[in-house]
Amino acid sequence: MKNARLVEIRLDKLKTRPQEIVFCEPATEFHALAELTEQSGLEFIEPLRGQLLANWPGDVIKVSGQISTTVQMPCSRCLSDVSWELNLDVLVCYSPASTDNSDALDHERELSSDDLGLVPLIGDVIDIRSELEQEVIMAIPQHVLCMEDCAGLCPVCGVDLNQNKCKCERPIFHQGLAALKKVKIEK
Ligand SMILES: [Zn+2]
Ligand SMILES: [Zn+2]
Repeated sequence: MKNARLVEIRLDKLKTRPQEIVFCEPATEFHALAELTEQSGLEFIEPLRGQLLANWPGDVIKVSGQISTTVQMPCSRCLSDVSWELNLDVLVCYSPASTDNSDALDHERELSSDDLGLVPLIGDVIDIRSELEQEVIMAIPQHVLCMEDCAGLCPVCGVDLNQNKCKCERPIFHQGLAALKKVKIEK
C-alpha cells in the first residue's frame, strides 16, 4: 500500500500531542472495499476522504472524525445507477499493549480489550485502514431506489416503466407474488 502512511498513527508522536489524519484515497486502496466492488454490483465513484483526530488522553487512544465517499449501485427495482453519498461520523478506540513484554499481561489485556469493544493494539504504529473500511461497509444500504416511487421494469418485456409505457398484459399475480406485493406496499 503506497499511501499507507496517510492512515497511520505513530504512537511515539501521539504521546506528545494529538495527531490529525487527513486523507483522500481511491477506495481500491482499501483491501476490503476493493473486494466488495469485485463481489457486488457496487462501485465507489468518489475517493474515500477522511478528516480525523487521534488523541491519547489516558489508557485508550481515540480516533474520531468524519469519513465520506460516494457509492454507485443499481436501483432495486429498475436497475438504473443510483449514487449514494456516505458521510459518517466515526469513533474508534484502541487499547495500547503494555510496554513491558510479558506475554501473560498482553494476553490478559487483549481479552479485556475485546470485552470493552476496543481494538487491541500491537506495535508502535496504528493503521486505521481496516476499522475505517468496516465503518464504510456497515453504512452501505442493502437496497436503494432511484426514486421513492420507481415503477421498476415491466415483468414481461423488461422495459423501464419510468421512461416508457408498454402494451404488455401484466400477468395476473398468483398468490405468492401477490403476497410479496403487499409486503412491499406496507413498507
Ligand atoms: Zn428505479
Ligand atoms: Zn412490457
